[in-house]
Amino acid sequence: MLNQLTISELVSKLAAREISSRAAIQGCLDQIEKVDPQIRAFLSLDAKDALAQADAADKALASGMTHAQRPLLGVPLATKDVIAVNGQPLNCGSKILGKFVSPYDATVIQKLKAAGAIVFGRLNMDEFAMGSSTENSAFQITRNPWDTSRTPGGSSGGSAAAVVSDQCLAALGSDTGGSIRQPAALSGCVGLKPSYGRVSRYGLVAFASSLDQIGCLTKQVRDAATLLQVLSGVDACDSTSVPQPVPNYNAGLMGDIAGVKLGLAKEYMVGGLDPEVKQAIDGAVKQLEKLGAEIVEVSLPHTEYAIATYYIIATAEASANLARFDGIRYGLRVDGADPIELYSRTRGAGFGAEVKRRILLGTYVLSSGYYDAYYLRAQKVRTLIRQDFLKAFEKVDAIVTPTSPTAAFKIGEKADDPLQMYLMDIFTISANLAGLCGISVPCGFARTPKLPIGLQLLGKPFGEEIILKVAHAYEQSTSWHREKPPLLR
Ligand code: GLN
Repeated sequence: MLNQLTISELVSKLAAREISSRAAIQGCLDQIEKVDPQIRAFLSLDAKDALAQADAADKALASGMTHAQRPLLGVPLATKDVIAVNGQPLNCGSKILGKFVSPYDATVIQKLKAAGAIVFGRLNMDEFAMGSSTENSAFQITRNPWDTSRTPGGSSGGSAAAVVSDQCLAALGSDTGGSIRQPAALSGCVGLKPSYGRVSRYGLVAFASSLDQIGCLTKQVRDAATLLQVLSGVDACDSTSVPQPVPNYNAGLMGDIAGVKLGLAKEYMVGGLDPEVKQAIDGAVKQLEKLGAEIVEVSLPHTEYAIATYYIIATAEASANLARFDGIRYGLRVDGADPIELYSRTRGAGFGAEVKRRILLGTYVLSSGYYDAYYLRAQKVRTLIRQDFLKAFEKVDAIVTPTSPTAAFKIGEKADDPLQMYLMDIFTISANLAGLCGISVPCGFARTPKLPIGLQLLGKPFGEEIILKVAHAYEQSTSWHREKPPLLR
C-alpha cells in the first residue's frame, strides 16, 4: 500500500527503483475511491493530470535523475483549495469564485513541481479559511477519520483528513490562527506552520495577510522538514517573504535534545483544558524530560487578550482582502440594476454566513470613530503579545503547549455558536500574532471514543530547526504517530 508510506519511505523506494511513481499515485487514487465517500476531503481531482505527472517523474527517474537533484521526484502531494495551481479550480471552499480556474501556480506550487512532486487534488476547507471545523465549506462537510461523526478540525480539515486516511502522502495547508496545527492535532498527523515570512504567500488567496502562512500536514516530522526545505525562501513576488538563510532542516533533526530548554507557560495549563488533553500533555512533557530536555516555567501574561486581538485584526484584514470578490473580476456574478446592486447581490449569494459575519465585524472595527478604539488598540496588544514571547525565548529554546483545548468535537456541536468555535484557537493564534513558527505532533489519545491529541511546540521567528528537532526526537521515542484510525483497518 504505497499510499500509506511517508515521503521519506516512498523516496527511498523510488530511488531504489523498487516501485514507480505511477504505482504510488495509483495507490492514492484507489484509496480516495475507497474512503473518500465517507471522509469527503477532496473537492475535486484531476486523475488524468496526476497520472501524467507521475509518468513524467518515472521518465525522469529512468533517465537517471536523482532525489538529490529533485528531492520530491514522484511524490504525490495534495493541496488545500486556497493555493493556486495552474489549470485547476480555485474556490477557497466558497461559492463566490464560481467556476474559476487558476491561470498560474503559487510560488510554493512552482517549488514543489520543480522538486518533482506530483501536485494533485483540491482539498476541502472552511470558506476562505475562516473556521476551526471545515463545517464552513460551501460544498461539503469533511469527516474525522477517527470518528466520522466528528470534525477533522479546520480550516485545513480536508488536508488533515486526507493525510490521516492515507489518500495522499502529505498535503499543503494554510495557517492564519491555527488552521494547520489544530486540524493536525484533531485528526492525528503532524502540522507545521512556518514563521511569518519563511514561505512565500504568492498564490495563496489572502484571508488576513499579516497572519497567513503556508505550511504542511505530514505523517511524520521528517517529512515536514523535507517539505519546508523545498517551500522556504525569499520570493520577489511576496515582499513579506524574508531573505533569511534557509538551514538544512533534515540535517538539523540529527542528535539528541539533551539540554534543550523548553518553556511551559503557566497561563496555558488552566481552565477550559480537557482533562484527557491535560493528561496527554503532562505525559509528553515527562517524555521530553526523559529525553534530556529541561523544562522551565515561562509566563505569557497577555494570553487572555489573544483571541479578542486576533478576531479584530483578522476580520479587519479579511474585510479588505475580500473586497476584491465583487462579481466584476472573478467567478460568480448576480446581475443588478446598477453596480451597487450587482455587488450586493453577488456577495449576498456568494459568501456564507461566517464570511459575512467577519466582513461586517472587520468593516466595523476599521470604520471611522471605531478604528482607534478597536483596530489600533488590537495592534498595540499584538505588540505586547509578541513581546511576551520574545521575552520567554530569552530563557527557552521552544515553548510546549497543547495544540487544542479539546479533542475532535461533533459535527454541529459548535456550528451555531461562533464564540465557542473561536475559543478552539486559544493555543494557536498567538503564534500568528507574533510571527512565530509552530508544529503539532500526535501525543496521545482521548478514550471513548479514541481520538488523537496534539502537542504544540512554538519556536521563535525563523526557529524552525529547533522545533523540528524536538518534535522529531519526541515522535521517534513514542508510537502515537503509528496508530491508524479504525476506518483504515
Ligand atoms: N480558526 C481560526 C479562524 O477561524 C483560524 C483559521 C486559520 O488559521 N485560517 O480564523
